[in-house]
Amino acid sequence: MPEGDTLWNHAAHLRPALVGHAVTDLRVHRNRKRGPRPGVKVEGVEAAGKHLLITFDDGVILHTHLQMTGEWHLYRAGQRWRNERGAMRALVATKDHVAVCFAAPTVALYHPAEAGPRPWDRIGPDLCHAEPDFDSIAANLAATGQARQIADVLLDQTMAAGIGNVYKSETLWFCRQSPFAELGAIENQKRRTLYQRASGLLHQNLGRSRRQTFRNGLAVYGRGRRDCPRCHSIIRRIEHGDDLVRVSYWCPRCQPGP
Ligand SMILES: [Zn+2]
Repeated sequence: MPEGDTLWNHAAHLRPALVGHAVTDLRVHRNRKRGPRPGVKVEGVEAAGKHLLITFDDGVILHTHLQMTGEWHLYRAGQRWRNERGAMRALVATKDHVAVCFAAPTVALYHPAEAGPRPWDRIGPDLCHAEPDFDSIAANLAATGQARQIADVLLDQTMAAGIGNVYKSETLWFCRQSPFAELGAIENQKRRTLYQRASGLLHQNLGRSRRQTFRNGLAVYGRGRRDCPRCHSIIRRIEHGDDLVRVSYWCPRCQPGP
């Protein structure tokens, strides 16, 4: 699962090459809907949590969700691609550039007249925004199951958008919070502190190619069985949560809990 800063960086990379330019080619894997009309312009490239949305000035939206595997590349027209053509899932070309999405499991076009929910409608306030709406996040937290583990809640994009396993583990370590605590056991001010810290860490990494939260790298994520940089206990790793692809790294001494 990509972190919010990855999507934000993809959007920032694509935006200047696409926005305001007329589309010369658009392809979407296994798509039966018509694309934007010839000559329409790209209106915006936005990350919405972990969704990347390319909007066109006729109201059509190209939605991609990269999950674990997907990526967007930007090429100059005629430049050789770094990935195989067979892995292409979407392509947006302008006169000078070609943006290609590879290996994304979710790629779809949405038309303005279409009714029904869209995958990004339900996401919570975006922690990569300049001023995330922490009051709305507090309200979302109050309305969800209070017995849920905080590690799962932080990953829940309907609460707030942008946190994946990396920022979850890092945030919990910075805030000395056990990943296994129930949401209901965490008071409101501490909840806010967790989301503010996550947002701060994400912001620190917007526009960066190498992720950094503590000194030259990460504090706990990916550092299982190594020393905690704060107390020198051994960092632990566990797969847990609603599905077992969710991994947490934590320091049992700094982050005591159930
Ligand atoms: Zn520690």
